[in-house]
Amino acid sequence: MGLTELFDKKLVFSLEVFPPHTAVGIEHLQKTLVDLEQIKPDFISVTLGASGITKSEDTIKVADFIQNDLKIPAVAHVPGLYQSKDEVRRLLDALVAHDVKNVLVLRGDAIKDQIPIGEFKHADDLAAFIKEYGTFDIAGACYPQVHLESTSTVSDIRYLKRKVAAGVSHLITQVFFDNKHFYNFKERLELADIDVPVEAGIMPCTNKKQMERIAQITGIKLPKKFVSILSRYENKPLAMRDAGIAFAVDQIVDLISSGVDGIHLYTMNNADNAKLIWQATHTLFEDATEMKTMS
Ligand code: FAD
Repeated sequence: MGLTELFDKKLVFSLEVFPPHTAVGIEHLQKTLVDLEQIKPDFISVTLGASGITKSEDTIKVADFIQNDLKIPAVAHVPGLYQSKDEVRRLLDALVAHDVKNVLVLRGDAIKDQIPIGEFKHADDLAAFIKEYGTFDIAGACYPQVHLESTSTVSDIRYLKRKVAAGVSHLITQVFFDNKHFYNFKERLELADIDVPVEAGIMPCTNKKQMERIAQITGIKLPKKFVSILSRYENKPLAMRDAGIAFAVDQIVDLISSGVDGIHLYTMNNADNAKLIWQATHTLFEDATEMKTMS
């Protein structure tokens, strides 16, 4: 069964991790992943920095561990901006050799002073290339608060529709901290007849500086109630963790009761936070899956 078919059967719960830059860091991540296995995610995705910050060998190594040691479906992120067709083909060959059959296609972010290769200008080019290669179930990124570079909400949706037509069969959203953005986005998808499962990207906040950096890079707006938490608990890590988990759980409860297709947790490689969120919500996932099975 391909990953996308899972959405017909259950409320999907997935995780995202990033490969650290050192061998020791990767070993540590493997321990974190063993810990995360307990919460039985439907898949775990592994990032790959567009500019070469992460080496593709590291993404392959971590994806291989998830797929073959833990027996959990792995999704390898594949950014296209700084890769040639030959490089992407080699990466896909390596993934197939490790039995990893799921990818998340991405354009990647342009880096100052680094000229893109230009063979994949946007994620839709890459989706079409991988679709033609065959074998892979292809996911793509989407933006409830509109991508930073989009000239309008309409063009954002128009290009997203192209990406889906090119072969993306499920979408994962950029992180957001106000569910109203997600519900408005879902309405835009419906109006544009974009009918693929959409997972909501949720990130527990644990650190004020990190959240502000993410907001700056992605262009997302942090809601007032979230900013109050960051300001109040910035120097109290335990209280910040508890408030961040409670905030994420609150978002997830609301999303599940509104019929979301799946939750994608940006773990930031922190198993404890992911486990706390799972403990607080897993019965809701089970209930939603039971309702899907009955319908
Ligand atoms: P695209 O879909 O190509 O869109 C980028 C912009 O171009 C948008 O404004 C869009 O409207 C416009 N556009 C799209 N298609 C066209 C077209 N054909 N012609 C003209 N304009 C077009 N980055 C990494 O480097 N590594 C990762 O592992 C990674 N993981 C991510 C995971 C998720 C779930 C998300 C949401 C993002 C991730 N990113 C990652 C960041 C991502 O690379 C950036 O957000 C990037 O700026 C856009 O990537 P995209 O695939 O959405 O691009």
